Amino acid sequence: MSISELTGFDVPTGLLIGGEWAKGAATFPVLDPATEEPLAEVADGTVADALDAVGAAQLALPGWAATPPRQRAEVLRKAFELMTARSEQFARLMSAENGKSLRDARGEAAYAAEFFRWYAEEAVRVEGTLLRAPSGANRIITLHQPIGVALLITPWNFPAAMATRKIGPALAAGCPVVLKPAEDTPLTALALAELLGQAGVPDGVVNVVTTASPAPVVSAMLADPRVRKLSFTGSTEVGKILLGQAAQQVISSSMELGGNAPFIVFEDADIPAAVEGALIAKMRNGGEACTAANRFYVHEAVADEFVAAFAGRMKSLVVGPGLDEATELGPLVNEETRSKVAGLVEDATGLGAALVTGGRRPRRRGYFYEPTLLDAVPADARLLGTEIFGPVAPVVRFTDEADAVRWANATEFGLVCYVYTQDLRRGLRVAEALETGMVGLNRGLVSDPAAPFGGVKQSGLGREGAHEGLLEYTETKYIATDW
Ligand code: ADP
Repeated sequence: MSISELTGFDVPTGLLIGGEWAKGAATFPVLDPATEEPLAEVADGTVADALDAVGAAQLALPGWAATPPRQRAEVLRKAFELMTARSEQFARLMSAENGKSLRDARGEAAYAAEFFRWYAEEAVRVEGTLLRAPSGANRIITLHQPIGVALLITPWNFPAAMATRKIGPALAAGCPVVLKPAEDTPLTALALAELLGQAGVPDGVVNVVTTASPAPVVSAMLADPRVRKLSFTGSTEVGKILLGQAAQQVISSSMELGGNAPFIVFEDADIPAAVEGALIAKMRNGGEACTAANRFYVHEAVADEFVAAFAGRMKSLVVGPGLDEATELGPLVNEETRSKVAGLVEDATGLGAALVTGGRRPRRRGYFYEPTLLDAVPADARLLGTEIFGPVAPVVRFTDEADAVRWANATEFGLVCYVYTQDLRRGLRVAEALETGMVGLNRGLVSDPAAPFGGVKQSGLGREGAHEGLLEYTETKYIATDW
């Protein structure tokens, strides 16, 4: 089926450069992960197209930076309203190209739109400071000015939210952008760009370059001195390559990279609540989230109860095409992702982990994998140190709080940790000791446009969302003066 039949609306498939939609010299296919059939052909942008987009953004910079904050805010507010009015279309589009269940896609459509609303509210609150120098000799004034043209690179797992989380603050701060979406899910980004035009974003302020060859296209943009900001969400592996390239022009870089989230259940936890939290932290988006719980450390005293209840909930999930209303778990995004997940499960069971439920590819077309729970996973199983990115939950039992914290921290990642305990003192003590950017304390979900999202160690640099997310698109200027 075509994308318009599946979603009920026409999605642009060209390149958006300087307010004009261009066809591009060639195209590449976007596949439906539930059927493995092509959904659409999208323009395959070249290095020349990308540099044209950078040029268009640079041309739009003075005008957009000078646009009154209230006016920029009104455009973002309009984008929020349009996206909310079309949330069902966006949900269907994301289910079609990413495979996620409609309920996940509806959640994402609402969450993604909220970044427009939040940054409409933040656009008018870019405050500076004024203070008297300690010596008394002069005054110190600071201002936050737009950093310049921003290159935004987004992954396929949250095709709308990862784009709006970057476009919202960039536009609020006064920065034009070039968005390069992931090649598996470019359609949502193109639909968003069209919506932003309808919301009143001037030509050249939002440009989109889709491409099947991200490496040369992105390198060329990072080598262009007109680009002053890189905001990347994706794998740590690619993030490191891009940081190296950004270093050549000393481009300010915000990085949201991989995670390896521990989910710790203490013996004093509310177990039914922990199971519900585990289900959200593990299974939201089919496990294809950098915030997905990747390792479950469960106290020996409650492990049998937790594992039985969690397995029961996992087993009962309805697996099917994302666009089926009943589906709770859709397919994985592509075959590569599914093979990786299957390989990690085989490695763990080969080392002696107990397979409680799942562990197979269902016999049907599409990149499906069963909800899987493994117990008594040995410490050397690869999945404890690797981002699984699929519906697989490995459980490791512990008896000592200090061990749980030590194991949780024994990773190069540090994005999010989940902690379940009814003892608030313990919860806060453990939250402080964890090497992480975010903690879900008796909650399986942390993402919120009003909160600073981001990681420590190799999970990233900088924060998205909250007021901090806006400051990532500004430079601080200090004026020393006296009167
Ligand atoms: P994931 O593992 O989530 O697919 P990737 O890091 O591979 O994450 O992809 C995230 C984004 O980075 C996508 O937009 C992709 O096109 C882009 N990308 C992948 N490889 C490169 C590269 N070598 N240079 C620049 N961008 C890349």
